[in-house]
Amino acid sequence: MTFDLRHMSGPFDIVGDVHGCADELLALLARLGYEVAVEGTGERRGARIAAPHGRHLVFVGDFVDRGPASPDVLRIAMAADAAGLGYAVIGNHDDKFRRWLKGSAVKISHGLEQTVAQMAGEPASFHAGVRAYLERLPYYLWLDGGALAVAHAGFRQEMLGRTSGAARAFAVYGDTDGKRDESGLTIRYDWASAHTGQTRIVYGHTPIEQAEWRFNTLCLDTGCCFGGALTALRWPENEIVYVPARRTYAVRGRPFGHPPPREAAPAPA
Ligand code: MN
Repeated sequence: MTFDLRHMSGPFDIVGDVHGCADELLALLARLGYEVAVEGTGERRGARIAAPHGRHLVFVGDFVDRGPASPDVLRIAMAADAAGLGYAVIGNHDDKFRRWLKGSAVKISHGLEQTVAQMAGEPASFHAGVRAYLERLPYYLWLDGGALAVAHAGFRQEMLGRTSGAARAFAVYGDTDGKRDESGLTIRYDWASAHTGQTRIVYGHTPIEQAEWRFNTLCLDTGCCFGGALTALRWPENEIVYVPARRTYAVRGRPFGHPPPREAAPAPA
């Protein structure tokens, strides 16, 4: 799997956590100038995509769970990949779904129940194609001469250019230590406020009200599946583009917002 795309200088359209919100993804891609169609039924259902001249999509991951149409979201991402128009990093939800696809025992929760139900109507060839696609997604991408990195939950400057289990865990789950809060959710720490590197790090994972640069990092997860918005960054234009959610598809377990820094984090239960 390819992590180092420093030779790719963009321009890029980097898309936040989609979580099965196919209608909003289609609306966002139209706003960004892409021509996308998802058509057909059964084995023949597929997506076609054309990009504005020279542009590439980059997904921050979490294609699936919670929303109403995870299979179509995957079709769009896979069509972009097949056409050489799109990149993506794997999100924690995609990674768990990947394990479900290969038959591992995973807990069907946090919106995976919707994806599993949606996949029940999909042919075996689609299951196999999605699994192969997810198996080869990288957990981070280093882009544009080294000026930009994309990872689902976050990344650290010193992890760029190499690979390790610790880097993968950080990229997919963020800065956590396994402790849980009183509602049983894994406590997340604000790694971004400690980022002092020159590489701009774009990520998702933690729903926030509005995408804004802080400490050379940008979270693009504006909680579309929770009734927020689906947000993209146009790079290098540094323009934020978003479309509002058409409805609320899932109830958020904790409030939107950046997590506290480590020293101010809530005491574990
Ligand atoms: Mn997410």
